[in-house]
Amino acid sequence: MPKSLSSVLSCIEHERLEFELIEVRTRGQYLTRLRSISRYEQAEWDRREREALSSLVDHELEHGCNG
Ligand SMILES: [Zn+2]
Repeated sequence: MPKSLSSVLSCIEHERLEFELIEVRTRGQYLTRLRSISRYEQAEWDRREREALSSLVDHELEHGCNG
């Protein structure tokens, strides 16, 4: 990708990871409202959210794009 283009566009990988985090959060919150989920399910969603968040933070640190 030419430099002129990449400086205009934001980091695609960062966007993807951010989107994943939002999706996990939204789906988790939606399920919680829809019905009472078990403690196990809640822990599973918490785990997924933490994973998505740490992927995003790791990428920011490695890539230095920070959004
Ligand atoms: Zn990046």
